Amino acid sequence: MNVPFLDVQAAYRELKDPIDTAVMRVLESGWYILGEEVEQFEKVFASYSGADHCVGVGNGLDALVLGLTALGIGSGDEVIVPANTYIATWLAVSAVGATCVPVDPDENGCNLNLDIVEKLISDKTCAIIPVHLYGHPMDVVRTKALADEHGLKVIEDCAQAHGAKWQGISVGSTSDVGCYSFYPGKNLGALGDGGAVVTSDADVADKLRLLRNYGSKQKYSNDVKGANSRLASVQAAVLKVKLDWLDEWNERRSKIAHRYVESFEAISNLKVFSEPQGSQSVWHQFPIRTERRDKLQEVLNHSGIGTMIHYPVPPHLSEAYQSERLDNFSLPVTEKSAAELLSLPIGPHLSEQQQSYVIATVIDFFKE
Ligand SMILES: *Cc1c(COP(=O)(O)O)cnc(C)c1O
Repeated sequence: MNVPFLDVQAAYRELKDPIDTAVMRVLESGWYILGEEVEQFEKVFASYSGADHCVGVGNGLDALVLGLTALGIGSGDEVIVPANTYIATWLAVSAVGATCVPVDPDENGCNLNLDIVEKLISDKTCAIIPVHLYGHPMDVVRTKALADEHGLKVIEDCAQAHGAKWQGISVGSTSDVGCYSFYPGKNLGALGDGGAVVTSDADVADKLRLLRNYGSKQKYSNDVKGANSRLASVQAAVLKVKLDWLDEWNERRSKIAHRYVESFEAISNLKVFSEPQGSQSVWHQFPIRTERRDKLQEVLNHSGIGTMIHYPVPPHLSEAYQSERLDNFSLPVTEKSAAELLSLPIGPHLSEQQQSYVIATVIDFFKE
């Protein structure tokens, strides 16, 4: 049997008719950037994510960069970021000229350890970027309380968490901005790059609309030094079709995740991340942790099972950040995780038989 790590084409196969119709509609309309399709998607996505406004942008990295810019964060500012995240979170901070202050996750979790965050807040700290990693919602209530106490902005990186809820609160809805990516492999994925920023602050939404379009409200009148980061009409049309299926697809992920959790319970040297009590994870990835990671990956690979490591090199150890002298930060959890994490196949189109095969192969491996 062959189990690909993720089959993004399966999403298209399931929704071929409505997606084809949406794409054709845009082709025939002759309007390919922003416009009505984008406005309609922005409206439904704002409502879905529990915020008042949504501004479609070019990709998830730009969503973060423009979000930080709209909140006035820039040169000389310090921004607290998770050490264990996809490097885009860090690159956004660097792109606006601010400095990353990395923080480890909780020992047994994957999201920011707020006790460490609290200790690292300084006079220069301007913002916190919690990342809902692997689709597991971060404690947004405590994050916001901490931020308010110190006058900090909160930019949520929701790139892996479309539909996730912390104690009933939609991620991205209660902070200054929530930033989404619609990269094809995300829980809500486009047919190319796409992203969005959600916010309930009308002034911030206005700024974002200017920033994504050359700082211009009216053609050839430029109010601020903006970027070109506009959502394509065809992506918005496709995303609107897929949004209707997001909850169902997240439920399928959740079912798969819980089956993995139960199946691996008896394996003592394999650890999984669990869903926070009373909260709703959207299981973007299903990483396990084991000291025998490299060997396990090799065995799964030979058995035709695709896996990935999220992430093999933490940003602070990447070549890109070697000039920033981050060695005074102690990040033991992140560094240990990088050697132990292995993401197993998960997605709305992973079949029961495929998952049975993955489970049997993993259990077999640990019997040896
Ligand atoms: C995917 C991702 C991004 C970047 O999104 P792009 O659309 O690829 O630019 C940012 N942060 C996290 C945590 C991500 O997983």
